[in-house]
Amino acid sequence: MRKPVIAGNWKMHNTISEALDLVRGVKPQVEGVTDVEIIVSPVYTALASVAAELKGSNINVASQNIFWEEKGAFTGEVAPNMITDAGCTHAIIGHSERRQYFGETDQTVNKRVKAALSVGLIPIVCVGETLEERDSGKTIAVVDVQVKGGLVELSAEDIAKIIIAYEPVWAIGTGKTATPDMAEEVHKQIRSVVADISDASIADGTRILYGGSVKPENVDDLMAQPNIDGALVGGAALKVDSFVRLVKFDQKRSAFK
Ligand code: PEP
Repeated sequence: MRKPVIAGNWKMHNTISEALDLVRGVKPQVEGVTDVEIIVSPVYTALASVAAELKGSNINVASQNIFWEEKGAFTGEVAPNMITDAGCTHAIIGHSERRQYFGETDQTVNKRVKAALSVGLIPIVCVGETLEERDSGKTIAVVDVQVKGGLVELSAEDIAKIIIAYEPVWAIGTGKTATPDMAEEVHKQIRSVVADISDASIADGTRILYGGSVKPENVDDLMAQPNIDGALVGGAALKVDSFVRLVKFDQKRSAFK
């Protein structure tokens, strides 16, 4: 059984007070939800306040990035132990916006993944193809390289801790969603890559989230797919009602997982 994950990536939205308003709206409505892992990912400046507000609750906090060095002359960067110090349990790594605008590569993703694991943070490793790559039939090859590159040199024990998010770049923030079948095909392939680099039982336990315009209208169909174990959500995570609805997706349809 894989515990489903619903994670909100707030991107560069919400001041500290806006972030607190959002979690204060969500928290009472998801109280008592124990069968879904709930994660929110505010900007760096709001991490500590949000984590303090959520302490003792069933909502975990993730950073949107992490640096791999422990300390030093790296202006603008935030070290792994500073992320845990702020109260985070997870770190989103290799989001396509980081790859697209900030030069993230599979090599730097791998360094960040190792750094996160070294302080006990659970990495949420993002992979996904561009529209051009999909249109030229390269989706599976691109995602294979990203998963293997991001997880290279990790022990099976560490691979077992990781969450993977499949986010087709063309579906992020565009309103275009991969159909459940399109997403399922890639999720199944990712699971087989994880089996190749670790073993079948680890792959069977790995949570693979879908991301790309997930919203209340499509979450149930996506979550009903056998290899879709959750969602990494941008836009729909910024409103209390829609995020709560995503957390309360139709579990009966995905109960066979
Ligand atoms: C994301 O930011 O990871 C994302 C999937 O965004 P959206 O849900 O807005 O497409």
